[in-house]
Amino acid sequence: MSDTNQSSWMEEVMKRLRLVKYPGFSRDIVSFGLVHDLALEGAELKLTLKLSTPDPALPEKLGQEIRAGLKGLDAVQSVTIRTEVTPTAAAASTGTQGIEGVKKIIAVASGKGGVGKSTVASNVAVSLARTGWKVGLCDCDLYGPSQALMLGCREGVRVEEGTERIIPAECHGVKLMSMGMLLGEDSPAALRGPMVTRFTQQFLRQVAWGELDVLVLDLPPGTGDIQLTIVQTVSLDGALIVTTPQEVALVDARKAIAMFRKVNVEILGLVENMSYFVVPGTDQKHNIFGSGGGKRESERQKVPLLGEIPLDAEARKCGDEGRPVVLAHPTSPSAISFLNLGNSVAKILFSNNSTRTT
Ligand code: ADP
Repeated sequence: MSDTNQSSWMEEVMKRLRLVKYPGFSRDIVSFGLVHDLALEGAELKLTLKLSTPDPALPEKLGQEIRAGLKGLDAVQSVTIRTEVTPTAAAASTGTQGIEGVKKIIAVASGKGGVGKSTVASNVAVSLARTGWKVGLCDCDLYGPSQALMLGCREGVRVEEGTERIIPAECHGVKLMSMGMLLGEDSPAALRGPMVTRFTQQFLRQVAWGELDVLVLDLPPGTGDIQLTIVQTVSLDGALIVTTPQEVALVDARKAIAMFRKVNVEILGLVENMSYFVVPGTDQKHNIFGSGGGKRESERQKVPLLGEIPLDAEARKCGDEGRPVVLAHPTSPSAISFLNLGNSVAKILFSNNSTRTT
């Protein structure tokens, strides 16, 4: 085959591979960077699939789809696929660290926006830091970053000379890196497709976190490509799923749980936020968004319900003022629940050793 022929066949091969989607997601296997060492030797097409989840069904499923997609191409009579599970993915299955110096990495996620995911992430991070853990918080919500505001962080981004690594800010004892800091308050985060992947990877890999006990990732809401990018880039030790009690939020929480399970990330537990409201100065309790939804869902999913956080004006006010409620009003109803949640998370991550001696 001439070189020109060969390159036009390869173009066709790439075109067809771009139609093969990663199961359950809208992104294709080429744009996601799974296809490597592509070569046409005679009529044999060889390629390596670099996967980041050790799911034994995945190579077979992708193999079938790749072969089906390449059917009818004269130049390709056979397809040989080698599968490699990348080190970060191997780490995911064994629970070892995925970022140098970072012992545990957890994601705080929700299927739906506005349920209090970022509020939970910042308060859990600060609660853990209060007990002596070295904690980092990474705001991965490129489209609606809010952690810089919630932690009252005004520091700009600093880059380490020579290494070009990004130095995280430090607020309330938590190391913070946020897209908000990279983009500035008013910049629209008009990032698309591959740029999202690149930024997210830069976020997770190029930040000089130093030694951390726990890195908390505040994920954007939803179950799309960006969440997959994050899960593929770093090995998570588990995910906290935040919901509110009503069905409309639980439906999306279910999707988030399914997404993490698909990529073999352990669900640490469910957090029901805005569970109830106690009229200040009374013991009148109102279940504004319904009651028992989080408990029922946690039983259905066989995951622990790690917290029922009340709706509390202090939580909202403190978030807006940049001082998480666990610091500003540690005896308020929501702060007590957040501190208990932080304790439960620490217990799960470090097996009943929730107070660290530094
Ligand atoms: P998400 O990250 O899910 O979009 P946020 O954490 O940004 O949600 O919360 C949305 C709004 O709800 C914020 O104004 C926040 O201060 C407020 N909020 C979150 N949790 C509570 C709570 N338990 N009580 C009162 N307000 C809350």
